[in-house]
Amino acid sequence: MEKVALVTGSSRGIGAATAKLLARQGYAVCVNYRSQKNAADDVVAAIKAEGGKAIAIQADVSVETEVIQLFLSIEQALGQVTHLVNNVGILYQQSNLVDMSLERFNSVLIANVSSCFLCCREALKVMQQGCAIVNVSSAASRLGAPFEYIDYAASKGAIDSLTKGLSLEVAGKGIRVNAVRPGLIDTSIHADGGEPERAQRLGATTPLQRCGTAEEVANAISWLLSDEASYVTGSFVDIAGGK
Ligand code: NAP
Repeated sequence: MEKVALVTGSSRGIGAATAKLLARQGYAVCVNYRSQKNAADDVVAAIKAEGGKAIAIQADVSVETEVIQLFLSIEQALGQVTHLVNNVGILYQQSNLVDMSLERFNSVLIANVSSCFLCCREALKVMQQGCAIVNVSSAASRLGAPFEYIDYAASKGAIDSLTKGLSLEVAGKGIRVNAVRPGLIDTSIHADGGEPERAQRLGATTPLQRCGTAEEVANAISWLLSDEASYVTGSFVDIAGGK
């Protein structure tokens, strides 16, 4: 089976590191992005420079029609998706719950949860025995992100439940579904929360006394996708420096 991976939101951060690693491991990779075409093109160029196969496709994966078109485009360019990484996730300015608008709360749920639902659904229409899905949750699902982003934490709690339920629905078909729960990883998502240096500041308080890298998360994702994890499903890998 030719391995075709879709990594949602892979123009930057954890997604970009995952796309590059999977390409090195022989997957044909779709680098999905929402708005930063140049960043996605750079990821594709880096993959091709190493002899890998990749294409960049713009799609807002929280929009149903765009997800359906994304899967059609991948099939035409690379073949049917065999491995899916639901990596897209957003957060907004740090805030207490009492100050959050309903619009913001719903926006986070749609961006983080509906995107995962839509991509899982479209992938499962074509996935067969041996295929695998990894969802990118967060340590926030365990910790709750008080005073910062409870909306984001709640969305990651939903990802955990979706992961568990879906893993049980498709296990009989030989399709595995797992999740990673990163902690404080050095990416630009923290700037969106209003504190670019948050990962460094709080990473120092973890048992391993530093923040993590996107590559460290990518390593766990690629292992969960691989046949080396062939007896692993419905599981969660915490990548949070011991916190
Ligand atoms: P990031 O650096 O902010 O990158 C986000 C990526 O998602 C970008 O490629 C962005 O595309 C894309 N994106 C956002 N919304 C999209 C949409 N609707 N459709 C398609 N693409 C979209 O984020 P990150 O830190 O790497 O986080 C990746 C995942 O890890 C997220 O699920 C996040 O919640 C999770 N996570 C991160 C940390 C951390 O400390 N960094 C910790 C725990 C969990 P554009 O470039 O086009 O905008």
